[in-house]
Amino acid sequence: MTTHSPFPRGTVLGYPRIGRRRELKKAVEAFWVGKISADQLEASAAELRAATRERLASLGLGRDDSSIPEGFSFYDQMLDTAVTVGAVPSRFARVVGADGTVDLAGYFTIARGEGDDVPAEMTKWFDSNYHYLVPEIGPETDLHFASDRLVREFAEAKAAGFLTRPVIVGPITFLLLSKASEQAPEGYDPLHRLDDLIAVYEGLLAELADAGAEWVQLDEPILVSESVDVDRAVVLERTAHAYRQLGGVDARPQLFVSAPYGSLDDALPVLLDAPIEAIGLDLVKGSVPAGITTGKTLVGGVVDGHNIWRGDLAAGFDKLTSLAGSGAPVAVATSTSLFHVPHDVADETLLPARLVSWLAFADQKVAQVATLAKGLAEGRLAIRDELDAASAALADRQSAPGVRDGAVRAREAALTDADFSRGAYGVRLAAQDAALGLPFLPTTTIGSFPQTGDIRRERARLVKGEISHDEYVTAMQEEIRRVVALQEEIGLDVLVHGEPERNDMVQYFAENLDGFEVTENGWVQSYGSRCTRPSLLWGDVSRPAPITVSWSTFTQSLTSKPVKGMLTGPVTILAWSFVRDDQPLRETANQVALALRDEIADLEAAGIGIIQVDEPALRELLPLKTADQADYLDWSVGSFRLATAGVSDRTQIHTHLCYSEFGVVIDAIDRLDADVTSIEAARSKMEVVPDIQQAGFARGIGPGVYDIHSPRVPSTEEVEGLLEIALGAIPNRQVWVNPDCGLKTRGYDETVASLSNIVAATRHVRERAAAAQ
Ligand code: GLN
Ligand code: ZN
Repeated sequence: MTTHSPFPRGTVLGYPRIGRRRELKKAVEAFWVGKISADQLEASAAELRAATRERLASLGLGRDDSSIPEGFSFYDQMLDTAVTVGAVPSRFARVVGADGTVDLAGYFTIARGEGDDVPAEMTKWFDSNYHYLVPEIGPETDLHFASDRLVREFAEAKAAGFLTRPVIVGPITFLLLSKASEQAPEGYDPLHRLDDLIAVYEGLLAELADAGAEWVQLDEPILVSESVDVDRAVVLERTAHAYRQLGGVDARPQLFVSAPYGSLDDALPVLLDAPIEAIGLDLVKGSVPAGITTGKTLVGGVVDGHNIWRGDLAAGFDKLTSLAGSGAPVAVATSTSLFHVPHDVADETLLPARLVSWLAFADQKVAQVATLAKGLAEGRLAIRDELDAASAALADRQSAPGVRDGAVRAREAALTDADFSRGAYGVRLAAQDAALGLPFLPTTTIGSFPQTGDIRRERARLVKGEISHDEYVTAMQEEIRRVVALQEEIGLDVLVHGEPERNDMVQYFAENLDGFEVTENGWVQSYGSRCTRPSLLWGDVSRPAPITVSWSTFTQSLTSKPVKGMLTGPVTILAWSFVRDDQPLRETANQVALALRDEIADLEAAGIGIIQVDEPALRELLPLKTADQADYLDWSVGSFRLATAGVSDRTQIHTHLCYSEFGVVIDAIDRLDADVTSIEAARSKMEVVPDIQQAGFARGIGPGVYDIHSPRVPSTEEVEGLLEIALGAIPNRQVWVNPDCGLKTRGYDETVASLSNIVAATRHVRERAAAAQ
């Protein structure tokens, strides 16, 4: 170790990367369409990094004490790490230049795919709504120090007068989140490559030390997760080994290993034993560990990085005080990176002032960290006013009107088991077959059609008051007419209205339900350049009036084919909003479910025979600790059933899931008791099918045959191949044919081509099946 500067008293594990007005998204997308050059994109990114550093310093982080994290990313931190260590999938070998590096265009090619080369798989990052790209590691992966981007970004900050703290995904998390490459033999575990990877990290640490870095942050969230295929004892042993090696590097920065998203449990002693200098503890999810003595700095993550509530600052300070009771040097941090929350509450001009006083976005959280750091340095009295103000806001929140609604609470209290179940599936199936008369291998889509510039412009005009509500409705109805005609032309069996009227599948409902507010600028990164604006679920939820019924009945009036009503499920509404933290999620979920149940009853009464309730986030909220999972699955499945169980046997309930590996929740998916489940599968080439087969899933199932996350058009043969995989494993009458997810992010050309190929492929398979009889 070359330096011994103390760990900064207050820091954040990371900060939003997209920019206050999504500047990064705009620049990256401009690069993709060739509007700006790589150099121009680099310049925009550098500008953004400079603005971030200045902002963090103005909010109270130090310029020269390693408290500002160096954690920029053009797309994803896992992809950054993969490119840094040379882990480029071999199908993308062409993007590696002669000098062994990957340029910006190549970097995005790995993320987005090209031609027949499918992009790296994308999956959810811990229990968040962020998606990372899954690295692919095999014996052939040429692990070496391939990119010094992080070193250059550190040097850029230094040249601007900032001593920042480079952040990188730790080696254990990197390998445990990787999957075996296509070349790897059956059962290959990327962890085999740990020693090679450590050697690369050693090189990186040496370069960072050379550049003047005093502290480096290694993120090891995998250590808090029990949702790992590898045996825990092996994880702990490999962790001890990795950090013994990295700690042993001669000239290196001091090492800060952070463990967001939960408590370290038995991994804490391992880190305490390792030759590292600071350990980050998530004290929002976990509690202050008892009975430890250490000379390492304990960094207490007491400011919630994953939610937007102002929270109980005094309780946070108490946790730091008790952490300091161990005798170790203590610092304060956020529990996770702040990239899960929007930039700044001050950017919200339309939220009620009272609600605003309960909130803290990223900038407010940084200020909270600075306050607590001051308290650590100068004592509680020095920050008494700030602590009192936060406590007063908390008390105000408890008693404000709308937070508790007597009618909602009475209805919830009166629920019985019967409200959560439908009749026997066999009876439902017969009634639905008779009512719907669908062919073998029914084809459908997941709901949304491309959200064109025209649609977004109409919505913007409505928001600005340039057109009336009626004019907006007429414009959307025209769009629906087009989408219905297109689906009939393509030959799909179950039609959708295309969701043009929805800005976002959760925000749309939030805007139409009581208990929610929506933001103007509250963007958070979802994946790559995709951002979402989570709603704020702050009070008791109820439905003042029907929401989707007129859109669905209008659509059904245009066609004799069945039209699917389209709703977002309670778990997903919770997962993609910032949810009140003052009552169990179970209660909030059931409130949302009851509002949806009323909507479903109204759709059914209006003659809509198929209703889809999307739950793409079911897997996402699954707790990382095994002990918490059963309770979660109980209330999440329960809320879906509460929403959907009021319908008659004849009404067909669909659900849709995507974005994740579903193996672990396949039984829960079964317990949703939906008549038909569509599930993302194309991107992972039908990996989920064996799980479905094993679970003995007995109702309708549509494993996706078109990866809508990529601009690629699947050929008819490719779709047929995927269908054959499904048909080979699942009783054929259960199989539905659909894309992986909604089409809203796609363009029309690729959508029409892909859906036409899907229908053509289905017809071929039907013909073959008929001929075989
Ligand atoms: N019905 C939604 C759509 O088609 C589902 C989106 C999702 O699963 N993320 O867009
Ligand atoms: Zn989806």
